[in-house]
Amino acid sequence: MKITFPYMGNSHIAISFFLSGLGHEVIYPPVPTKKTLSLGVQYSPEFACLPFKILLGTYLEAVEAGADTIATSGGYGPCRAGYYGELHKRILHDMGFPIRMIVLEPPLKGPLDFYNKLNSLIRPQSSWRHFCRVFKIAWQKLKAMDEIEDKLHQLRPLAFVPREMTIAYEKGLSYIEQAQTLAQVMEASDEALAGMKKVSVDPTRNPLKIGLIGEIYVVLEPSANHDIEKILGEMGVLVHRSIFLTNWTRDNTLVNREKDVRQAAMPYINQLIGGHGQNSAGETVRYAEHGFNGVIQLAPFTCIPEIVAKSIMPAISLDKGIPVMTVFLDEQTGRTGIETRLEAFVDLLQERRRQQEAS
Ligand code: SF4
Repeated sequence: MKITFPYMGNSHIAISFFLSGLGHEVIYPPVPTKKTLSLGVQYSPEFACLPFKILLGTYLEAVEAGADTIATSGGYGPCRAGYYGELHKRILHDMGFPIRMIVLEPPLKGPLDFYNKLNSLIRPQSSWRHFCRVFKIAWQKLKAMDEIEDKLHQLRPLAFVPREMTIAYEKGLSYIEQAQTLAQVMEASDEALAGMKKVSVDPTRNPLKIGLIGEIYVVLEPSANHDIEKILGEMGVLVHRSIFLTNWTRDNTLVNREKDVRQAAMPYINQLIGGHGQNSAGETVRYAEHGFNGVIQLAPFTCIPEIVAKSIMPAISLDKGIPVMTVFLDEQTGRTGIETRLEAFVDLLQERRRQQEAS
């Protein structure tokens, strides 16, 4: 099969390694651009949320490049994410593209269905043993990428020339992409971290700390959030992202289910409201408890779980003493507008910290 998948953050590096390792021809999903989004907007229902539109645009570009199968994740809970796969499939079929859609639902929701879908990815001449071997390497790649990205967020605000840290990180990513075995992934990860440590930093700086929360796609995909982490990092702010792909996958496929975050959210949102809505409330509480200076919530326009979370943010902000800024994102959002709002928010946090230190 000629298979493609959604583009989200750096995950394409591990997913393409995994699928090609299983012997499939991978049609690389293109980096989402304005063209991707306008394609998605053109063929999506008007009320659909931004990730739906970007994904549809990505699929259309991949289908044009020859893809006949799409592998994607499903979802559960009271939110539209669970319908994405089916809706995308119907739209593509109606447009005359008879693609096959493999939607991987959380395994605890339907273990047999999960097994059958994974099994459908194994070619007749291959085996589960080979599947596990390739999966292990791909998982290690994801872990390594999350680790160096986390490091990037910590070191970039300390760098004398933040751009140099970004370049060192991107070089490190390419080492991980090239690695073919477990040992090579570990080596690549060490090399990437060593390269980033070589960039000159000022360890005496005390950067503002901002927690980034919100809906997973717009938090993880720079093209959807106008590279907000990079803008903040280059402004000298330490950004801590609440979602990384490895922890999200672990928490949503195995038993953990993000208990601590949900517990922290309980006084404000005491039940699952779909997407990351409840998490957004819990993570804001936790960022306040960990001494962060502020929180930025990223939300696709019309995303109900994040709208609900936003409505409770003033109460959390007041109770816990942490400023929260919500940024809604859709196809009309421009980078300049985001930059202006970030500058204003960072100024506010700096002034607030100055006053707190003076009192
Ligand atoms: S979480 Fe929000 S953006 Fe994501 S599918 Fe649900 S409603 Fe849409």
